[in-house]
Amino acid sequence: MSIVVPKPGWMDSDLEQLADTTNRFSDRDCLPHDDRWRAQRHADRDIWTKAGAAGLLCASIPEQYGGGGGHFGHEVVITQALAYKMAGGFSNSVHSGIVAHYILRYGNEAQKQRWLPKMATGELVAAIAMTEPGAGTDLQAIRTSAKTDGEHYVINGAKTFITNGLHANLICVVARTGPEQGGKGISLIMVETDGLAGFRRGKLLDKVGQHTVDTAELFFDGMRVPTHQLLGSEAGRGFVQLMEQLPRERLIIAVGGVATMQRAVDETLAYVQQRQIFGKPLMAMQNTRFKLAECQTKLSIARSFVDDCITRSLADTLDLSTAAMAKWWVSEMMGQVVDECVQLHGGYGYMNEYPIARLYADARVGRIYGGSNEVMKELIARTMDGGKR
Ligand SMILES: Cc1cc2nc3c(=O)[nH]c(=O)nc-3n(C[C@H](O)[C@H](O)[C@H](O)COP(=O)(O)OP(=O)(O)OC[C@H]3O[C@@H](n4cnc5c(N)ncnc54)[C@H](O)[C@@H]3O)c2cc1C
Repeated sequence: MSIVVPKPGWMDSDLEQLADTTNRFSDRDCLPHDDRWRAQRHADRDIWTKAGAAGLLCASIPEQYGGGGGHFGHEVVITQALAYKMAGGFSNSVHSGIVAHYILRYGNEAQKQRWLPKMATGELVAAIAMTEPGAGTDLQAIRTSAKTDGEHYVINGAKTFITNGLHANLICVVARTGPEQGGKGISLIMVETDGLAGFRRGKLLDKVGQHTVDTAELFFDGMRVPTHQLLGSEAGRGFVQLMEQLPRERLIIAVGGVATMQRAVDETLAYVQQRQIFGKPLMAMQNTRFKLAECQTKLSIARSFVDDCITRSLADTLDLSTAAMAKWWVSEMMGQVVDECVQLHGGYGYMNEYPIARLYADARVGRIYGGSNEVMKELIARTMDGGKR
């Protein structure tokens, strides 16, 4: 008998249909290319236009801007389905879940009309470029500068670890527009990169896992970008804009983490039931049963908490601290569960042909990106401490 997963309150038939569409898309358009994409360390560019045609891009963006007209729940089911299927290759969460919402929230009407419909079809692929070689967690230390010259910003700097970095042609660049110290002089500028002088992509980064996702360095050398591509009505609001959007971004990481745990447990249960050892299935060993029971418990608790966070996010009441809890705790549990599941596979768990080995490599970064887990704990403690220190 398998564990029955209760249907969360936010799930409806429309969302179930979208999950089915995403599953079919993964089987048809992603997984058959998986080995080749892994070897070349990126998906083919046309996965974006295929995903657009299937209705998977900008699902939570209003129809008037070319989107699917859905809500955060639509991004959730797409993220869950892709994570469970292990069908990476295009980081829809960065494209639709993050950048599209920066434009929707802070863009003016002309900007929304210009970028969102093309993002929904996959003609534009979006990335967000915050991290620099000298500034990751400490975002206020960024050095990329955007100096005004007439009607243009002249942008100079370097970014690293940028998801969708190979295919992106619309990049939300976090740059310093003013002399003020710390977060005050930081702005978000949308950069259209096709044919843009001074824009250069560095090498594709060779990651430990997530091999189908293109992650790259970007270099800006005197790029001239119209000042009307600033997000928001005035410069210097970038840091606040980033902070406002972080809870949803962190929750998306937790959503993917729950789906990854579910896949790890399902793979492992099937494996230990058929693997014979000392004349009986590996599942008959008490250690196996206890370890799988522990994994299933962690998964069920994580799912329950994340479902509650999704409900709060849909009601627009998810706070920074609770989202930080979801991000750090789920990614931590995901690490523990996947590691235990590798152990139960024995040597086969260390072979890349087994999904569990790939999950192991893919999951590790969950504790690092989107704000490292140490930073999540600091945020939670700050709230407990009344915002002091
Ligand atoms: C696969 C991948 C994809 C990514 N995608 C993107 C992207 O699309 N766009 C983008 O802009 N960035 C992206 N990043 C960057 C990611 O967000 C950063 O790696 C992350 O924020 C950590 O920054 P850092 O690597 O510079 O580490 P550092 O900031 O140097 O941190 C090093 C260590 O110090 C710890 N630390 C830092 N501050 C504190 C503190 N106050 N208290 C205690 N410990 C602390 C950290 O937790 C960490 O363990 C990606 C990274 C990876 C690996």
